[in-house]
Amino acid sequence: MSDDANPFESLQEQIDDAAAYLDVAPDVINRLKYPQRILETNLSVEMDDGTVDVFQAFRSQFNGDRGPYKGGIRYHPNVSRDEVKALSGWMVYKCAVVDIPYGGGKGGIVIDPSEHSESELERITRAFATELRPFIGEDRDIPAPDVNTGQREMNWIKDTYETLEGTTAPGVITGKAPDSGGSAGRVEATGRSTAITAREAFDYLDKDIDGATVAVQGYGNAGWIAANLIDELGANVVAVSDSSGGIYKEGGFDPKAVKEAKNESGSVTSYDDYDEELSNEELLTLDVDLLVPAALENAIDGDLAQDVQADVVVEAANGPLTPDADDVLTEREVTVFPDILANAGGVTVSYFEWVQNRQRFYWTEERVNDELERIIVDAFENIVDAYESKDLPNFRTAAYVVAIERVAKAYQQSGNWP
Ligand code: GLU
Repeated sequence: MSDDANPFESLQEQIDDAAAYLDVAPDVINRLKYPQRILETNLSVEMDDGTVDVFQAFRSQFNGDRGPYKGGIRYHPNVSRDEVKALSGWMVYKCAVVDIPYGGGKGGIVIDPSEHSESELERITRAFATELRPFIGEDRDIPAPDVNTGQREMNWIKDTYETLEGTTAPGVITGKAPDSGGSAGRVEATGRSTAITAREAFDYLDKDIDGATVAVQGYGNAGWIAANLIDELGANVVAVSDSSGGIYKEGGFDPKAVKEAKNESGSVTSYDDYDEELSNEELLTLDVDLLVPAALENAIDGDLAQDVQADVVVEAANGPLTPDADDVLTEREVTVFPDILANAGGVTVSYFEWVQNRQRFYWTEERVNDELERIIVDAFENIVDAYESKDLPNFRTAAYVVAIERVAKAYQQSGNWP
């Protein structure tokens, strides 16, 4: 299903593809292709049986020209230096596309969290937070959840940071639980931006989302919320999957019922009301109106892209298509709306959370969702304008054209120093 594309090289290729259409000097583009700094650390943590284990961890600060570094922390066995570098770069351009005042960062620990108890995870998380402390801060670098992390981990990091600093600083991290300074609507925000993007995309393409068939690969926080909100728009979620496999039902699933089954057993495949079982690869090549990859990078490579039958792809995951897949889908006239727009709701509501933390004044969920809607729709329109006015090959290149222009301007206005 996936090829060996190095995500950091994919990011650099995406930047180069857009640079060809931009009036930005090559030396400036070159600077925007590399992270500013990376923390690599090895956490020695006591396990429940008294032995000490070592966990490799990273934090990449890619670019801070538009504001503090911002981006999640991932717990996954496949975390690597190059993956974290790529993910931190995607955050730069994601924040620029939605025009929020942040740069980009990303962190990760090489770990399979399912192999650890809650108390081990707490010690591992607090050890990472202790290492991160000199690098992060409300005005410096603001982590958030990503794959396999959530409110629990964010609360531990906030508590470790505040305890060591001897202060309160809820804006040092976002994605916290509401009682610990989290924002209403943050959990749903990533999937909500995917659903808004799908709705706008279908409208732009003169297609009806009502009754459209949808396949969703990945049923974590982004995938399941996207499935649920797209279902609420009247679409028919006919296929869902996770790392254990997938299921298909011609009449469409109730996304909430599938989520309940996954909560109970750990996988969507335990949901019993389906017509057929599917592999992830079969799901990605189903003949549907809309495909939502919502799992990890490189889900669709150049070969698999030849078999994609969906009309529209909206990316909820970061980097699910390799550059080869992009070329094939552009050639085959499959319309792709990129991650840096379609999953930008997460960081956008993180921004709202940070604003609320700084003001110590909290918004209603309705206000959060209204502001999110406005920002995603504006970003969608900016991308479509660039696509049409510059006659660009696809919407990913259009998104990078919009984003790189903004980052390059901030960089040039500040000057190159020291
Ligand atoms: N991890 C999410 C992303 O990839 C959210 C980042 C954030 O809220 O800072 O966009």
